[in-house]
Amino acid sequence: MKTVAVLGGGPAGAFAAAGLATAGLKTILFDEKLAWEKPCGGGLTYKAYHQYPFLLDNACPKRLVHQTVLGAPKTGEATMDLAHPLVIYSRLDLNRMLLERAAQAGAAIEKTRIMQIERRDKTWRLRTRDGVAEADYCIIATGARNPLRDVGTEWSAADTMSALGYYVPASQEHIDIQFLPKLEGYIWVFPRCGHLSVGICGKGEPAQMLRARLEAYMEERSIPRKDAVFYSHMLPSLESGGWRRNRVAGDGWMAVGDAAGLVDPITGEGIYYAMRSGDLASQLIANDAHDLTEKAAAYRAALAREFSHDLEFAATLAKRVFLGRFLFRTVPQRMVEFMRRSQRFRDLMQDLFAGTQPYLTLRNRLLRNLNGTLQEAIMSFFLDRVIPENS
Ligand SMILES: Cc1cc2nc3c(=O)[nH]c(=O)nc-3n(C[C@H](O)[C@H](O)[C@H](O)COP(=O)(O)OP(=O)(O)OC[C@H]3O[C@@H](n4cnc5c(N)ncnc54)[C@H](O)[C@@H]3O)c2cc1C
Repeated sequence: MKTVAVLGGGPAGAFAAAGLATAGLKTILFDEKLAWEKPCGGGLTYKAYHQYPFLLDNACPKRLVHQTVLGAPKTGEATMDLAHPLVIYSRLDLNRMLLERAAQAGAAIEKTRIMQIERRDKTWRLRTRDGVAEADYCIIATGARNPLRDVGTEWSAADTMSALGYYVPASQEHIDIQFLPKLEGYIWVFPRCGHLSVGICGKGEPAQMLRARLEAYMEERSIPRKDAVFYSHMLPSLESGGWRRNRVAGDGWMAVGDAAGLVDPITGEGIYYAMRSGDLASQLIANDAHDLTEKAAAYRAALAREFSHDLEFAATLAKRVFLGRFLFRTVPQRMVEFMRRSQRFRDLMQDLFAGTQPYLTLRNRLLRNLNGTLQEAIMSFFLDRVIPENS
């Protein structure tokens, strides 16, 4: 392997380039924008900074948020202290830090658009806006709107969700998560340095309707839209079939991050999976023990072992979480009620927020705890009626 080209310089590409260059491979990263304010909440879970502590220990501006308020229709809210804070970056700052890290490791960084790629005699020919380049191997990190049709995930409309919002010049200390009637998705308010990222993601609903829901929420909460900057993008949100068909690697290429569909179909978390897949891909490309065919298979296996099986399983849960019913109310309503009344349930939700509770073992944990949770919730419900909290 002489030269590896990394196409795209978001978290996935920047992580891959840093890993490849550190391993001593000649690495060129191409991005048409380089560091930019990619439409995003910018939230990093504990899982991400536990795996990569430099994400916490650096001089880059970021907010550490220790409290989340969850709300559901006609149920009010529940407040949860986070054992591990959510770390929230502006994407301009995060992307810049990750690109600088790749450059420091020795990757060449080029600002240009990749127009087309072609495989000829085991070599890639890359046509860029500014000329032509060659590489022996390609990492596809061009994000959710990957324009390179022959590589990376091939998704249908059902495998995506719209996400849009406003950067609002305001501040608050906590995160808000609001569930909405009949929506497979949610609204978030993330405090960042100097502004809020207020957004909505939803599956199966046109962006205009999502925007109307978000604006109604902002009006209700007196979150000003004056001077706010609108953003919108799409999120991969693979259905079960999409995960099974997912095209993540092929002859001389691996796809990482959003270009490989690696996003949690329930929460929309993608930054961790982008960074981790970039890191795994770089390790396997640098590993001389595999030939090219083995590398693709080894990458698929590594993703499955680390998280893609879990995300595939999450795809089977998503509709039930947002649209399902439990004991005559919607699941989001019950979640908020249980959070208010049961410490066990709050512990479980904290772990889900931190990214330390896999979906694959959620059912068993719920079964183990459900009795206790229900008992706690029922006891607290009746106690409230007999002895109100402040009497
Ligand atoms: C509204 C919204 C909110 C979100 N909030 C969160 C959140 O709070 N936490 C979280 O974990 N995830 C969140 N996500 C998901 C997260 O943004 C993505 O999963 C993450 O950015 C994926 O990283 P990536 O490197 O794969 O792709 P991207 O960050 O999209 O990077 C792709 C890069 O490729 C470049 N590129 C594309 N095409 C070309 C080309 N032809 N030539 C050259 N360069 C090219 C682009 O310029 C870009 O820099 C959110 C997503 C959305 C849409």
